[in-house]
Amino acid sequence: MASRRRIKAESGAMELLHRVVGPLATNVYVVADPASREAIAIDTAIPSLAFVTDALAERDWTLKLIVSSHGHWEVAEHTGAPIAAHPLDRHRLEQPSRGLAPFEIPPSVPAVDLVEGGAIRFGSLRLAVLHTPGHTEGSVCLLDPDGGLLFSGDTLFANGWGRVDLPGGSAEQMAASIAPDRSWSTAHGPAGPGRGARVRPGARSVGSNRGWSSWRGRAD
Ligand SMILES: [Zn+2]
Repeated sequence: MASRRRIKAESGAMELLHRVVGPLATNVYVVADPASREAIAIDTAIPSLAFVTDALAERDWTLKLIVSSHGHWEVAEHTGAPIAAHPLDRHRLEQPSRGLAPFEIPPSVPAVDLVEGGAIRFGSLRLAVLHTPGHTEGSVCLLDPDGGLLFSGDTLFANGWGRVDLPGGSAEQMAASIAPDRSWSTAHGPAGPGRGARVRPGARSVGSNRGWSSWRGRAD
């Protein structure tokens, strides 16, 4: 069952569609600027192709970009739109490891590099890119500076952080990535308790696994 949210943002309304798919219950998101009808998809796990393409067709949205929050096998199904990933996880998409996946993972070549301090723009909307290594070397989170929504991939979950014991994982890097004084609170202006998108467990963050998906604050 897909869910649909409209997020208030200073730059305009952000439309957010969500579905849980696949054997790891991955959260797949389609995020759009309904005014321009431009959309992006985040963590298009197998099997999410029908969900994404139907969502686009029903609303006459154009998919501008597919974002991979990190290069694990559960994030691998694509629609033909350009793929964005951090350069340090590029090899995981180009030469995917099947691991325990119950199906083959097709390789893909990212066309867009995501780096710390960068941004993804579609229509009038902008998501800031935060490089958050720890789960993998090239894990990233996407922050909506206006609505305070964080797409946290496998970096953050409802009760803590993602695994650091898989290849490319690092407990030290994870600790640095989620440190309280990091860019979660400073990427979009003055920091302060409860302001903006400062992240704490149970706050408004949406991850790529089901455990971290809560909607509070200005998400309504
Ligand atoms: Zn992962």
